[in-house]
Amino acid sequence: LHKMLRAVSQFRPFIRTMALTYEKYPFLKELGIEAVNPGCYNGKWCGSGPVLTSMNPATGEAIAQVNSCTVEEYEETIVAMEAAKNEWMMTPGPRRGEIVRQIGVALREKVEALGKLVSLEMGKINPEGVGEVQEAIDICDLAVGLSRSIAGQVLQSERPGHMLLETWNPLGMVGIISAFNFPCAVAFWNIAISLICGNVSVWKGASSVCLTTMACAKICADVFEANGLPGAIASTIVGPGSTVGDKLITDERLKLVSFTGSTKVGRHVSETVHSHFGRTILELGGNNAVICMPDADLELVLRGCLFGAVGTAGQRCTSLRRLFLHESVYDKMVERFVKAYATIPIGDPLEKGTLCGPVHNPAAVKEYLDGVAAIKAEGGKILCGGNKIDRPGNYVEPCIAAIDPRAEIVKTELFVPILYVFKFKTIDEVIALNNGVPQGLSSAMFTKDLGNVCRWIGPLGSDCGLVNVNAGTSGAEIGGAFGGEKDTGGGRESGSDAWKQYMRRSTCTINYSAEMPLAQGIVFE
Ligand code: NAD
Repeated sequence: LHKMLRAVSQFRPFIRTMALTYEKYPFLKELGIEAVNPGCYNGKWCGSGPVLTSMNPATGEAIAQVNSCTVEEYEETIVAMEAAKNEWMMTPGPRRGEIVRQIGVALREKVEALGKLVSLEMGKINPEGVGEVQEAIDICDLAVGLSRSIAGQVLQSERPGHMLLETWNPLGMVGIISAFNFPCAVAFWNIAISLICGNVSVWKGASSVCLTTMACAKICADVFEANGLPGAIASTIVGPGSTVGDKLITDERLKLVSFTGSTKVGRHVSETVHSHFGRTILELGGNNAVICMPDADLELVLRGCLFGAVGTAGQRCTSLRRLFLHESVYDKMVERFVKAYATIPIGDPLEKGTLCGPVHNPAAVKEYLDGVAAIKAEGGKILCGGNKIDRPGNYVEPCIAAIDPRAEIVKTELFVPILYVFKFKTIDEVIALNNGVPQGLSSAMFTKDLGNVCRWIGPLGSDCGLVNVNAGTSGAEIGGAFGGEKDTGGGRESGSDAWKQYMRRSTCTINYSAEMPLAQGIVFE
């Protein structure tokens, strides 16, 4: 460890003197982001760990830096959260909702600037960057409503003079870990709902999107401080998974860890948190499919699938990866897709008209090239794309490949713009193929046949968490519970009754009689 730290510190002066392009982006100032920023907020701004440099995926240039959170600063954060916890737990729900309402207002004021930062740092095109902030605003609105409407229930007691109730209380302290590809929305999916439930939280964003993380932290901090409340209620850190991430998942003081990321890391998080009987919400990798039945509206299939497969350069958890085309439409649809791919404007995500930006980092370019090689090695055929684009930044050609749907490579999530196309004959066969991968996040069937629809959404249909009809796999609304089954982790976030996971359920029996009758008619005298 000492050798490693020495090696890292040798690089430090180099990292610190790296040319930063921060001045080129005036919207950073609007968000309170400087050339060098603190990587921890717990009511106080700090950060004295290794320097993280945020890289622009479109150019490969350094943007700005963050001094990451150390294990000691993590501990200080938890202490500050503990000190703030009881006050927040006892704050009335609608008052907590008012704070979240103000966070939503602050996000609205910053939607353009923050949307640009998401695009700059993550690489998604600007309409998607702004859309992501809009999603954060929407979840704040949903949470404000919930803050007045969360309810328990009164049940029928079998005993005379007894009342049976279910009440919901906050968990106390929760941890949130998010992935690079939704650096803003996923945080608020958790923070907004958790706050109105009465919890204090610490959110660890991904290191490669440390600027967006700290810009979001600033938005929350300003609201808490303006209201005279401890900022530690919504704490934020950035730092390596191997140090502060590991601290967070082994911390028994956190009653819930909501983790969004890869299945590999999610499995480790699950094993670690469950070993001390902590709760988890796991939002992990997907391997999402569209099924095009012979009666489908082919125009809709094309439009829905293009956004699903090429949008965010294939880096959504819900990105379309597997396209099953009925044999009667396979040839003409493959031809249409290949033609459409040739016309997709690829370029800088902040430039108007771009539909496909870069992948996030050089590791993703490698994942793409390795994926293409693996497809070929398993007998697959590249129908278009398959190469790195020769320009600065992490650009690859969106790719379509024909391969056996049972090939090993098809079972893994390649987090890049590669779309597999397959031919099928019957609905039974194709539903089995849809379900025949380890992941179970999003799925869609295009059909006009009511029988197909009912089959698809019924007990023997898709085994995914998101089961769509005539709509693509990506771009879910926040009103429904979001998440997936199997290797996707089984978690649900966002709308519907997802709030229940951030609360502790108490079943209360109240005896208001002068007798002591026992349940099940037991006589004990
Ligand atoms: P990742 O698993 O590499 O990292 C996710 C987060 O985990 C990061 O903040 C990282 O720092 C942290 N981490 C890493 N090691 C850790 C450890 N030992 N302890 C604690 N934290 C640790 O994922 P990524 O590359 O950032 O994101 C892409 C993946 O996320 C894809 O698989 C994608 O499908 C998935 N994802 C899923 C959803 C969903 O809702 N299902 C949403 C977005 C992304």
